Amino acid sequence: MKVLKEIGDLRKEVRSVRRKGLKTGFVPTMGFLHEGHLSLVKQANAECDLSFVSIFVNPLQFNNKSDLENYPVDIPRDLKLLEECKTDFVFIPHYSEVYSAGSQTRIDTGDLGKDYEGAFRPGHFAGVVTVVSILFNLVQPDIAVFGEKDFQQLRIIEQMVDDLKFDIQIRRGKTVREADGLAKSSRNVRLSSSQREQALLISQGLQEALSLFRSGEKDAAKLQSVVTEKLARGKEVNMEYVSLVEEESLSPIAEATENTRILVAASVGPVRLLDNIRLEA
Ligand code: AMP
Repeated sequence: MKVLKEIGDLRKEVRSVRRKGLKTGFVPTMGFLHEGHLSLVKQANAECDLSFVSIFVNPLQFNNKSDLENYPVDIPRDLKLLEECKTDFVFIPHYSEVYSAGSQTRIDTGDLGKDYEGAFRPGHFAGVVTVVSILFNLVQPDIAVFGEKDFQQLRIIEQMVDDLKFDIQIRRGKTVREADGLAKSSRNVRLSSSQREQALLISQGLQEALSLFRSGEKDAAKLQSVVTEKLARGKEVNMEYVSLVEEESLSPIAEATENTRILVAASVGPVRLLDNIRLEA
């Protein structure tokens, strides 16, 4: 596994890999890796000859200063995990490698980025797609793998690749959960044990809505209230949104179908958590 910090070194490797005609997969991350990230790397490795992972905590996508300052970092541990799952190249750039001095260009994510996370975190998606497109230009992978855990982000990146004609296939990775159902997240380490228990209400609420859907309930308002009522039981849980949306457009729906996702954001104590589920039979 090679660790690269500078664009010049990354470009040399990318050129050499491309000359050899090797198929490459890429997983962008913000580090403090867990099995969710590693499952994406394994997915890239299974399909490709070589894998690239980036670790970069992108200030541009944080609208909240304390969230950025408290974002967990442990590069030695990340490198060990990446080595174990046979990553070929890890790119860990400094801020000044990614953003040129006086950097101006930002990408607008259109309607897909307006609601949900877009409404609660102004500027977040412009930051995400700007850094992802910079990284795509540097790594030039054949495929890039993103987690369904951040479903709105995934849809926005799929749309961006289509709109801006990146020659990259986006692959979806399933959400990896703890044994009790909590979606894995780098931010989970910041939960106290009581907050950790309350955080479980999110995945439990989603599972209950799925069961109700499977037993025939299609009314979006009813399915939504199963989740909101569940979240209301947590003393330190503050719901931001629980939205039933059509999977492609992310538009709100009144009647649930097999193409419906429930998107949830809630803070539990100081930690903001996201989860979602597909309503499928
Ligand atoms: P992050 O480091 O949070 O920016 O996430 C990097 C990538 O890992 C994104 O594509 C996320 O959607 C994905 N990811 C984060 N958590 C999970 C999870 N629990 N299961 C699967 N993928 C995840």
